Amino acid sequence: MEMKSKYDIVIIGSGLGGLGAGLILTKQNPNLRVLIVEQHTIPGGYVTGFYRKGYYFDPGAEGISSMYEGSTLRKTLNEIGFQQEYIKIDPLETYYFDDGKKIALYYDIEKFLIEVEAAYPEEKKGTEDFLNECNRILGKKMKGEDIEEYKDWSFYDLLKKYVKNDNILDIFNLFCLWFSEPIRKMKAKTGATLVSNVMKTGVVYPKGGMANFSKKLADLFVSNGGTIIYGKKATNILIEDHIVTGILLNDGKEVKCDYVISNADVKKTMLEYIEEKYLDNDYLKFIRDLKQSHTGVMLFLGVDMDLSMYPSHFQISEDIDGIDRIKKNILEIKKLAVRIPAIKDPSLLNDGKYSIVAFFFSPYDWNNMWNSGPGGKRTPEYRKLKDDLMNQMITKIETIIPKLKENIDIRILATPLTFDRYVMVSEGAWFGPNSFSKLPGIKTPIKNLFLVGASVEGSGVPSALSSGFKVGKILSAIFYK
Ligand SMILES: Cc1cc2nc3c(=O)[nH]c(=O)nc-3n(C[C@H](O)[C@H](O)[C@H](O)COP(=O)(O)OP(=O)(O)OC[C@H]3O[C@@H](n4cnc5c(N)ncnc54)[C@H](O)[C@@H]3O)c2cc1C
Repeated sequence: MEMKSKYDIVIIGSGLGGLGAGLILTKQNPNLRVLIVEQHTIPGGYVTGFYRKGYYFDPGAEGISSMYEGSTLRKTLNEIGFQQEYIKIDPLETYYFDDGKKIALYYDIEKFLIEVEAAYPEEKKGTEDFLNECNRILGKKMKGEDIEEYKDWSFYDLLKKYVKNDNILDIFNLFCLWFSEPIRKMKAKTGATLVSNVMKTGVVYPKGGMANFSKKLADLFVSNGGTIIYGKKATNILIEDHIVTGILLNDGKEVKCDYVISNADVKKTMLEYIEEKYLDNDYLKFIRDLKQSHTGVMLFLGVDMDLSMYPSHFQISEDIDGIDRIKKNILEIKKLAVRIPAIKDPSLLNDGKYSIVAFFFSPYDWNNMWNSGPGGKRTPEYRKLKDDLMNQMITKIETIIPKLKENIDIRILATPLTFDRYVMVSEGAWFGPNSFSKLPGIKTPIKNLFLVGASVEGSGVPSALSSGFKVGKILSAIFYK
């Protein structure tokens, strides 16, 4: 792809934030010259997928919330002409507990309560009351009414008011994991509104897989007149008289522009791509102090066996304190999350064969950067560690899928170093900086430089996309004048 020497707007990164901004800009102003620079060979950042020997894997996002019919997100995507079919992930999760009990988290509350009753009859009433209370809290919040009674309560306190068995807590801990927040730290009201919201609106999977979803967004951007170049990394944001003038690429080329939108990690954007002299000490400290969310270890298996009897998303073992352990830099494979993409979308079967993605959350810098050598070099010790972890994970999955080991066709393991390398997010964080801390927002102290993505207003696909839409609309209005 030929690059012009000057653009109106350059976007660093084709994650969902970058694509969202690019799509709004090109749709609303077809004459704008908009360039997306992507260091990887494919678009999407953490909303991605890959094939090996015909097996399909989602190594990042595995579902999208707030994408129900009529949601703001869905409406905006419709308005920009994006066509996509979605499959509801129901049950959202299935839990296989160590005591041999199993519970599927269906959105249909009655169906879910039947599951709870079958496993722990004494917890049915408390679980029902808890869900009703979550609905009441969400209802009050939507009316803008104050919810004084749980002011200093944690989500853990709220759950414990209604249920005794920690395995029921483990089910709802899911919503804390999404935000890297320990259950005892998450605010009761935040947890309750999340539970109520997601149970009402659901989580969907884009038909064709996550990679296809991002590719279609990128294709639409290009068909609207935008340009994407792959395999080029922005290394500097050029500034003159405190105003953005362009970017510098890793091949030494300068690209001039009037505005830069960075979808790159906020720490890298502000601390590496911009000269320190342009930012004041308070802002620099604020960015340096942002705490990254957790990362993890992910296993990809291609298996020659029938998995049609398993749920698409399940968790093996309970663990409500996992995030606390990670914060203390402790690694333990206590709970394992397992996903089978073709159960959600059978078009992802590999000639009738299934792929499995399994993961657990982990610290970033564990065991001397995972036994890697200087500069993250992949040493024999690193590979040995990966092999050990793979074997432990496979053994754990076998407790639910017997005879797995003997039917494995391919196996690949990603460590936090892998996530760091592919998406260039600080500490390989899966959800950007912790969403419940103060975040930088879309505006920056540098004139004509904006931020989009999970580092900016909150993590996850909906927040990343909507930050992009927001910046796209602001700049569209400026150019439209
Ligand atoms: C394992 C995992 C599971 C997840 N599950 C879910 C889920 O189920 N639902 C959900 O909503 N969210 C989930 N998330 C989070 C969600 O995927 C992210 O929050 C969101 O996609 C981030 O979007 P972003 O706009 O910040 O861009 P990113 O995904 O961070 O992408 C940034 C892009 O910029 C590129 N880039 C970075 N620096 C440069 C540079 N200097 N030059 C050029 N290009 C650059 C990168 O290559 C990348 O393509 C998950 C994340 C992970 C890792």
